[in-house]
Amino acid sequence: MKRLVVGHLFPDYLNIYADRGNIAVLARRAAWRGYEVDVRALGAGAEIPPAEHDLFYVGGGQDREQALIAPELAALGPALHDAFAGGAAFLAVCGGYQLLGSFYRDQSGQEQPGIGLLPLHTVAGTRRMIGDVLLECELEPGSKRTLAGFENHAGRTILDPGAEPLGRVIAGFGNDGESGFEGCRSGRAIGTYLHGPLLPRNPWLADWLLAQAIAHRTGELPVFEPLGDELETEAHAVSARRAETRGGRF
Ligand code: GLN
Repeated sequence: MKRLVVGHLFPDYLNIYADRGNIAVLARRAAWRGYEVDVRALGAGAEIPPAEHDLFYVGGGQDREQALIAPELAALGPALHDAFAGGAAFLAVCGGYQLLGSFYRDQSGQEQPGIGLLPLHTVAGTRRMIGDVLLECELEPGSKRTLAGFENHAGRTILDPGAEPLGRVIAGFGNDGESGFEGCRSGRAIGTYLHGPLLPRNPWLADWLLAQAIAHRTGELPVFEPLGDELETEAHAVSARRAETRGGRF
């Protein structure tokens, strides 16, 4: 069995809304393509040898949990930057997404350090942005897809000038409830506010991330045979309908 190595950053602190489910989906879809996924929990002081990990994942969390780990994550910053420069893929959700930016000023006004891997910063507002979300994305030119999920955040994320959002908001709040954009994409790194978990109802993004991880390991971007995905497609449709009927309202 071919192998992929996934680094799960701070799984005991950043894991709300079943974000851990994203790892389960990656592992199952990789197995259907002949890859075994070796998931390694990476916490404070973790070793991150160059080129060892093909994909890094970090989930969401409350301000309190973020504050507990932010300095430790920042200490792993240089190794994560090296891994990114070496072509490793990243998926960061909500609180994890915020800490991949330069900083998160939380609801108490405390500035939590980020690792500055994604070109953005976040400042908490007073009203939480909660609800179903639907985005239009174009990770590959000419291939427009939709992403459906659930958001719950106080943070307002501001992308640096010229930074690429993950998608255009069709329904929901997104990064700040105003810009009309959600998330951030930088090469093989994806950051988003979308929980759910995200990947079970958006299998195309799971496959996109897997393909990036395999390209990191093999040097070649694979073309996957389509899987049935009937249930996943239905889950996406239900989530998209909910977003269109009630997303983005305080
Ligand atoms: N604590 C952060 C915020 O409120 C992130 C929340 C989350 O991960 N769902 O914005």
